[in-house]
Amino acid sequence: MSTMTAAVVEDFGQELNVTADVPLPEPGPQQALVKLIASGVCHTDLHARDGDWPVKPSPPFIPGHEGVGIVEKLGEDVTNLHVGQTVGNAWLWTACGSCEYCRTGWETLCEDQLNGGYSTDGSFGQYMLVDARYAAAIPDGADPHEIAPLLCAGVTVYKALKMTGVRPGQWVAISGIGGLGHIAVQYAVAMGMRVVAVDIADDKLALAKKHGAEVALNAKGTDPAHEIQEQVGGTHGVLVTAVHPSAFGQAINMTRRGGTIVFNGLPPGEFPAPIFDIVLKGLTIRGSIVGTRQDMVEALDFYARGLIHPTYSKRPLGDVNAVLDEMHHGKIDGRVVIDYGA
Ligand code: NAD
Ligand code: ZN
Ligand code: ZN
Repeated sequence: MSTMTAAVVEDFGQELNVTADVPLPEPGPQQALVKLIASGVCHTDLHARDGDWPVKPSPPFIPGHEGVGIVEKLGEDVTNLHVGQTVGNAWLWTACGSCEYCRTGWETLCEDQLNGGYSTDGSFGQYMLVDARYAAAIPDGADPHEIAPLLCAGVTVYKALKMTGVRPGQWVAISGIGGLGHIAVQYAVAMGMRVVAVDIADDKLALAKKHGAEVALNAKGTDPAHEIQEQVGGTHGVLVTAVHPSAFGQAINMTRRGGTIVFNGLPPGEFPAPIFDIVLKGLTIRGSIVGTRQDMVEALDFYARGLIHPTYSKRPLGDVNAVLDEMHHGKIDGRVVIDYGA
């Protein structure tokens, strides 16, 4: 077989073309060819399709950076993977390995990185390539569909929760209970944090409660910051995974003094930031982008220990346009995972 079926972005803002005519990729040095079993669908794939961000991918390209599959063929010089092994791709598909960021444990900031499903083809196809040095090793016994969302959503929120500096027993607010947020609730609980969940839909808040949030607040048409101050005296940290800029401005007033606000969500736009409050309350506001390979190992280990169970539903690749449409309208419960067996 020299071709495969894949979902291809041919033009920004248009439906993906699901076609059987995509040439099967050939693994180069340090690369492996992987036959997909499952791939999560991240909101970043929707931003990629729509060309939402200042740095854009170049169509045609295949999205997807939560892919799990079996190594079928190795390129030259691969020493750390074997044929038959289960691996995943990631947003951090490869990096240079030698710049200041790579050398100091900040490979997620490498200026020469390639991103899975964005600047290199991803997991919305029957096969994908991985860089063997950056592919995630999937723990033995993992359910490929259940673990897929951890390859982006999981590692991203795990890292971001660490960046909040919130300690066991302290409060964290998680704003946006979608694919990232519902997994963030689970990591936060597993890390000993107490969780306030915020979303604009009651079904998302119910999902957060199911996964261990103690307080859940609906931000539709109102600013939940006041309620958070009333109920818990402000949180020690905030993690924003929401896809609307209004959530970013609201996050600043959710913390108590000295709090840290970490942004994961990437909606195009800006938010107002009150200088007086930031200075007088000694707040830290920072961005966080996915996680390093070591963050991935740690995030997947939480799963291997039975602490994280993404809520997901399986769909065939042919449904990908419908899935992106449902995501745009906030209709997805947890994560959708493409099932290549279907
Ligand atoms: P999703 O569509 O699954 O979830 C988004 C959630 O935000 C939904 O539950 C929606 O109801 C909620 N929401 C919308 N408006 C809101 C508001 N005003 N207040 C509170 N909640 C609101 O998306 P996802 O896959 O979880 O991704 C979320 C965002 O994170 C996207 O912008 C994505 O690109 C970004 N992302 C960033 C990183 C990173 O490393 N920084 C990694 C992955 C995804
Ligand atoms: Zn993602
Ligand atoms: Zn680098």
